[in-house]
Amino acid sequence: MTKIFDDPAQFADDALDGFVAANRKYVARVDGGVVRSTETPEGQVAVVIGGGSGHYPAFAGLVGAGLAAGSACGNMFASPSAGQVYRVAKASQTGGGVLLSYGNYAGDVLHFGQAQEKLNAEGIETRTVLVTDDIASAPLEEIGKRRGIAGDLTVFKVAGAAAEAGLDLDEVERLAIKANHHTRSLGVAFAGCTLPGASEPLFTVPEGMMSVGLGIHGEPGISDLPLPSASELAKLLVDGLLKDKPETAGHRVVPILNGLGTVKYDELFLLFGKIEALLTAAGLEIVEPECGELVTSLDMSGLSLTLFWLDAELEKFWAAPADTPAFRKGNLAPRRARAVESLAEAATTPGLAATPASTALAATAVGVLKEARSVVVEHEEALGKLDAIAGDGDHGIGMRRGVDAAVAAAEKSHAGGAGLEEVLAAAGEQWAERAGGTSGALWGAAVTAVGRTLGSKDAYTAADAAAAVNALRDAIVTLGKAEAGDKTMVDALLPFAETFTKAIDDGGSLAGSLRAAAEAAAEAADATAGLSPRKGRARPLAEKSLGHPDPGAVSFGLIARRVAEYAATIESH
Ligand code: ADP
Ligand code: MG
Repeated sequence: MTKIFDDPAQFADDALDGFVAANRKYVARVDGGVVRSTETPEGQVAVVIGGGSGHYPAFAGLVGAGLAAGSACGNMFASPSAGQVYRVAKASQTGGGVLLSYGNYAGDVLHFGQAQEKLNAEGIETRTVLVTDDIASAPLEEIGKRRGIAGDLTVFKVAGAAAEAGLDLDEVERLAIKANHHTRSLGVAFAGCTLPGASEPLFTVPEGMMSVGLGIHGEPGISDLPLPSASELAKLLVDGLLKDKPETAGHRVVPILNGLGTVKYDELFLLFGKIEALLTAAGLEIVEPECGELVTSLDMSGLSLTLFWLDAELEKFWAAPADTPAFRKGNLAPRRARAVESLAEAATTPGLAATPASTALAATAVGVLKEARSVVVEHEEALGKLDAIAGDGDHGIGMRRGVDAAVAAAEKSHAGGAGLEEVLAAAGEQWAERAGGTSGALWGAAVTAVGRTLGSKDAYTAADAAAAVNALRDAIVTLGKAEAGDKTMVDALLPFAETFTKAIDDGGSLAGSLRAAAEAAAEAADATAGLSPRKGRARPLAEKSLGHPDPGAVSFGLIARRVAEYAATIESH
């Protein structure tokens, strides 16, 4: 139970402020997370990590020389927004490019992915290495679907040490990928955790039982077993991990025994002794192990064992010095303090050039967003109800929050004289940030991508409209990775884009082409009633969803229709 707070809704932010106050030697606060408060040499790759809050020392505790350059810190157990990741990366980087690294969770992938696109578009070369160490979360054949738990540390550490050694982005990326391939974890839980202000734990484990492979947010595990003895537990963890040993593993290994929140150090040490004996008996050599709290889940009772299989180069970077609030190794020369006052400026988006045509088109874009807002407001309740059938019921409110924020940001940016690209970038960012859900991240990315494609030209033609629609489609498909038939908004989006580009190619008017495309989208949205979901939160409730259309597809069809009507009124003027 979390007891200390003023306002539970502010818990993550307030805790982060206090963390920075206690660690000013290492970190400084930026909007969205923390960055090093010390100087980083020009041209060094910035390893930017992050994820939900509530997992200390992951992730903010690992920011410092020899490890991460910055950490984006989301709300409790919730991904940071793309805007947060972007701002932290901007304030962290010193010209050598950015490596984003984080645990493989759908929300994080969406938001970090969007930030990566934005950074790359601005000329800051950015790559991503996902951590996928949890062997309980997917079989070996689907290793890319595994989620990240305490193995985060080995990947971040190797990447951070490689960056510190002055290696370039290609090399830092290669080593991080290799570290991830050589890292395997298995966890067990004895009791769930309670979010600040909540009266019930987020999940529970049956009394007297131990849940094997349960995720750090209560994601389902492999099995429930009666509480074992320490020796039995050590064997279960070691045997499980040895069975999943990577093919390229040698005989030198780093064991990391991680406490998830309320398992005492004495118990961890007791267990570590047994684990060490088993690994040694298996003919392995133990190298620089860790035993303590490295990735926690508030007050969750549980632990995980990670095995990091070394080769010569991985060992070198694992053993290299690091100096961070929560992880220190060896000796690093003290760093000069950074000018903290310039941080806010470092984290801003540069203004974009605007032609008169792009400024004029920005006014139309604001109008389009307002139309989208009004149709979302009209259907907010119905969309929520539709999402409640097999999802979490937040599609109406999420769309409302997102589009409200997008309109406000677009109006503000337009009033400041910005052109289309900048107006839509502001709108997209706010949409994603405020909506919270999956659909918000996708809509935000789509709006931003449309702006980027239309850019700042001297004149716009029908071909630009087709390019914009294709950009909208590509942004959603690339980020969400859903395919036709998965029962998502993509099922409305694909026919929309296809019909529109064909109509334009055939010489149709903008409004006429939009009308045809919107009808195709709305029909396809209705037809999703016959599909079973394969992506998104509705997947576990596939049966309940049958016979009802997908909420995201329905809202897409509604917006498309309203925008087509709006285009017809403009064209008739
Ligand atoms: P959340 O699923 O996070 O609660 P919303 O309820 O706002 O977010 O949106 C749900 C909708 O998002 C779904 O109905 C579906 O259309 C869409 N969606 C979910 N995942 C994906 C994805 N990977 N690609 C495309 N659309 C998706
Ligand atoms: Mg939802």
